[in-house]
Amino acid sequence: MAPSVDRSFTAASTLEEAMAARRQGAAVLAGGTWMMRDPRRGVDLPEAVVALHRIPALSKVEIEPDHVVIGAAVTHAVLGRALHGAVGFEGLVAAADGAANPGIRRVATVGGNLCALDFAAADLAPALLVCEATVELETFEGPKLLGISDFLKDRHTLLAEAIVTRIHLRRDLVASAHIRLPLRKAGDYPVAIVSLGVDKDKRCRIAVGSVEPVARRWTGLEQAMRAGQASALDPERAAELALEHNDFQGRDGKEAEGWYRRQVLPPLVKRGVAALLKTGGLA
Ligand SMILES: Cc1cc2nc3c(=O)[nH]c(=O)nc-3n(C[C@H](O)[C@H](O)[C@H](O)COP(=O)(O)OP(=O)(O)OC[C@H]3O[C@@H](n4cnc5c(N)ncnc54)[C@H](O)[C@@H]3O)c2cc1C
Repeated sequence: MAPSVDRSFTAASTLEEAMAARRQGAAVLAGGTWMMRDPRRGVDLPEAVVALHRIPALSKVEIEPDHVVIGAAVTHAVLGRALHGAVGFEGLVAAADGAANPGIRRVATVGGNLCALDFAAADLAPALLVCEATVELETFEGPKLLGISDFLKDRHTLLAEAIVTRIHLRRDLVASAHIRLPLRKAGDYPVAIVSLGVDKDKRCRIAVGSVEPVARRWTGLEQAMRAGQASALDPERAAELALEHNDFQGRDGKEAEGWYRRQVLPPLVKRGVAALLKTGGLA
């Protein structure tokens, strides 16, 4: 028989309480939808966990005229509902509403999606890259703000001593879209994701998830589309530019090989630009 392990669970009511538990070695437990599968990945479940859902500031979405603040404990379902109809956030809403399945979306949180280490297929990551989100962390030394790109790249180190508390977004996009390619044999996880956004000067932001281990902006394509100006927001032309500027190194996985993830990007860009053109801000 396996030896029994004493486990502890803390439902923190304040951030101070949550940080005190972290200092004692507790891991954050959000919706648990990723963590519950740790044993399948050969990772032991943590002996101590701290839940954040009782901390009011981390469970709400604040929508102001020029910015939005999303608590890390907000679920995908709540996020999708809160931002439904908000101009410029169509892509983020599609990411929240399209990830996983309704049961998972009701419990899986924004923080959990961004903090599941080694999870390359997180839908919210490219959608938030396009929003140029700022991630707020509470660390042992105090609060810290970080651009989402840097957060995603450094999260292994950062999360050893921190809790993600909030995500800050400017409201500077006029339209956005989120296109994902799920595959049945990939357990319906997206094997490639393209998120796109356009600001009021028609400058395009594009991010790709699931193709490489960490989601990132597609700056080569963004620059090519900027140079193309008028024709750039044409779906066919955008797909041609995507083919020309495809600098991704697809990751091999049991669900899909790297070359396939890379190769599907131009058609996803084409669908993304077509979706952008249909949104209220650009129509
Ligand atoms: C069947 C299935 C299908 C799925 N399909 C998709 C999909 O299509 N698209 C997609 O994006 N995802 C998909 N997922 C993954 C899912 O989105 C993640 O499991 C989920 O987002 C994790 O969130 P959670 O709140 O459950 O996190 P948890 O499982 O509670 O935590 C995940 C990790 O993040 C850490 N963590 C959580 N919150 C914080 C915080 N605030 N600060 C610091 N660390 C924190 C935890 O310690 C843990 O290490 C799927 C999952 C399942 C089970």
